[in-house]
Amino acid sequence: MTARRRLRVCVHGVVQGVGFRPFIYACAASLGLTGSVRNDTSGAIIEVEGDPAEINHFLARLRDHPPPLAVIESIETHDIPPIGGTGFTIADTSRSDGGRTLASPDVAMCADCEAEQRDPSNRRYRHAFINCTNCGPRFTIIGSLPYDRATTTMAPFAMCAECAREYTDPADRRFHAQPVCCQNCGPALRYREGAGGMTDGDDALPRARRLLRDGGILAVKGIGGYHLACDANDEHAVTELRRRKRRGDKPFAVMVPDLPTARAIADVDAPSARLLASPQRPIVLVPRGRDARIAVAVAPRNPDLGVMLAYTPLHTLLFGLPGDDAGPPVLVMTSGNLGGEPICFTDDDALERLSHLADGWLMHDRDILVPCDDSVVRVVCVGGADNQNEVMELPIRRSRGYAPLPIALPMSVPPTMAIGADLKNTMAVADGKYAWLSQHIGDMDDLATLSAFDAAQRHLRELTAVEPEVLVVDAHPLYRSTAWAHRNAAGRPVRTVQHHHAHIAAVMAEHGMDGSQQVLGFAFDGTGYGSDAAVWGGEVLLANYKGYQRLAQLKYVPLAGGDISVLRPYRMALAHLWSAGIAWDADLPPVAACPADEQRVLRRQLETGVGCVPTSSMGRLFDAVSALGGVRQLVAYEAQAAIELEGLARGADGDTSSYAFDIDRSTDPVLIDPTPVVRAVVGDQRAGVSAAVIGARFHCAVADLVVELACEDRDASQIIALSGGVFQNALLLHLTLNRLQANGFHVITHRRVPPNDGGIALGQLLVGNCG
Ligand SMILES: [Zn+2]
Ligand SMILES: [Zn+2]
Repeated sequence: MTARRRLRVCVHGVVQGVGFRPFIYACAASLGLTGSVRNDTSGAIIEVEGDPAEINHFLARLRDHPPPLAVIESIETHDIPPIGGTGFTIADTSRSDGGRTLASPDVAMCADCEAEQRDPSNRRYRHAFINCTNCGPRFTIIGSLPYDRATTTMAPFAMCAECAREYTDPADRRFHAQPVCCQNCGPALRYREGAGGMTDGDDALPRARRLLRDGGILAVKGIGGYHLACDANDEHAVTELRRRKRRGDKPFAVMVPDLPTARAIADVDAPSARLLASPQRPIVLVPRGRDARIAVAVAPRNPDLGVMLAYTPLHTLLFGLPGDDAGPPVLVMTSGNLGGEPICFTDDDALERLSHLADGWLMHDRDILVPCDDSVVRVVCVGGADNQNEVMELPIRRSRGYAPLPIALPMSVPPTMAIGADLKNTMAVADGKYAWLSQHIGDMDDLATLSAFDAAQRHLRELTAVEPEVLVVDAHPLYRSTAWAHRNAAGRPVRTVQHHHAHIAAVMAEHGMDGSQQVLGFAFDGTGYGSDAAVWGGEVLLANYKGYQRLAQLKYVPLAGGDISVLRPYRMALAHLWSAGIAWDADLPPVAACPADEQRVLRRQLETGVGCVPTSSMGRLFDAVSALGGVRQLVAYEAQAAIELEGLARGADGDTSSYAFDIDRSTDPVLIDPTPVVRAVVGDQRAGVSAAVIGARFHCAVADLVVELACEDRDASQIIALSGGVFQNALLLHLTLNRLQANGFHVITHRRVPPNDGGIALGQLLVGNCG
């Protein structure tokens, strides 16, 4: 008989709230091993004892088949003396050792639960709240750690005997699943139409579906807040929703019950399909299908469609199971709010704030503790000509399904809070080698978002137990987020970080760079406060975490009147024409779009500099080219002009010519002069070249510019970092990556946090601790 062996196994990573301890228990029990599992500061500590061969099997299972939601970063093993004993124990979650365990994000309904929901013989047939250790709400229902039912919004629901049996049975899929419940003991659905009374129980869903089918607008309680839903194929309903939300032309996302329905409305390739069906179930931006039966008003003039799969059991019931009256197969699903406000997540708030937006409310009594918007991801082809199949996921908004998964830092930092920026605010905390980014909080331009920020930072600190000793903010003196930090500093240092430096540092951090090497960073975006008080956004920075040198910049043009020039791309076009010495002739689309009075005032502003700020923004240059090409003169949402230009340019297959920027190397920083580009766009436009071709040539020009500057500064760094909101542009990213790689550069781009301002908190954490 072989000698018994006892092994201590330390597992680091995300192992709490993901069914990890039950998995270990079940695994050990099935192999006849005794021992225990408990959480500790950095993960889980397992002790297993028994036959050495079985222990090896145990380790293999742990390595190769961990629970689907666990993120195992490392496994360490040590032999310890056997102590005998029988059985296997799960130690209670305890923070008495001051330890840190990691909370899990919310997870879409798993395939097992979906099968049970559709199975008439299952006791949870048609249950709207079915979940198990592999799926269900987490982040949005956990008030504090330890993650036990008592600290979640499931606390008021006492388990029935049957659920309690599953919860305590190590062999059950619901063993220690905190939100476990059934029709007998869980939350209940309610429905209200107009100002009428509440309907409880079985009637709620058919009535909600009928409302949608009849063209009404339904408020639906989801995981991280209320959605507003309507039939995506009903032009009238979608237009009405747009009107009520005061939404302009900003695209709506749609929800479908399954992949075949997604494929019927969009060109869904294999990587996008995987992402759509992943446990995160983000909104995936995919090219709209040619014959998609989708109302025009869903995403006017947008080449892409934001699609997501039903991700809660309530969603699948809303679409209907076999035997139900048919409802709309594709639903608009947009966050339940008025344009710009934070998403509604409490029932009272939904009834009040959405009273003029919704015709009916599908609600339930499981509370949402913190709001969490849907995440948005797009798939970008990054392979060169030899490997067109290589793709990457580019996060556009990292929120539900991802927050609060930690991001490993390349170096240790003291307890820190990074506040992020004012647009697309996302904050972060860090301690040691972990950073936690919050969910998407939004644009900090109203009181409601500020209070959402406050709630989010408190919740994130609670879940991570980080007590920040340092605060890091953007250098913009007028940011509301910065003001929040100063108000709440309580004597702690508040460090400032330049906006584009933070962008570049964020990509470096994602790629595990420890800061010992510099990168050549291209930070292209709409706006960020520069060290000379100008509006930066077309920057080439030689950077590490400690500092940066501005090697090159887009030549300044005057931004006249601030936001008004952002909303009216024709004004940026006129500024670029003026700067390039090109007359404002009435045949040019942006000149024709600008009223004569406005032209007079604008010209005076440009000539005197009154009311103007110099800007090197690449985002604004995209706006100007979009206007010059006749694509868009006024925008109703951020980056609309650039998005429509990209959409057209993607259709201009075959044209391989490019415009070219002038580069003035006599100055420091080097000046990138768009004059020849603007001149060429005007020439092409006058010659009747299509906007699609103009757009394609402009995208190539920007990609070529990056390559040219990278080649010139090859001695400074071989590592090229691309960041800033402009790199959400899939065409530009694809062209730039391709050309850089063809020239032998190592290129780093965003894969875990967005290139837009939703990612800068990560960069702030590192720069703020390296100054
Ligand atoms: Zn499940
Ligand atoms: Zn029950």
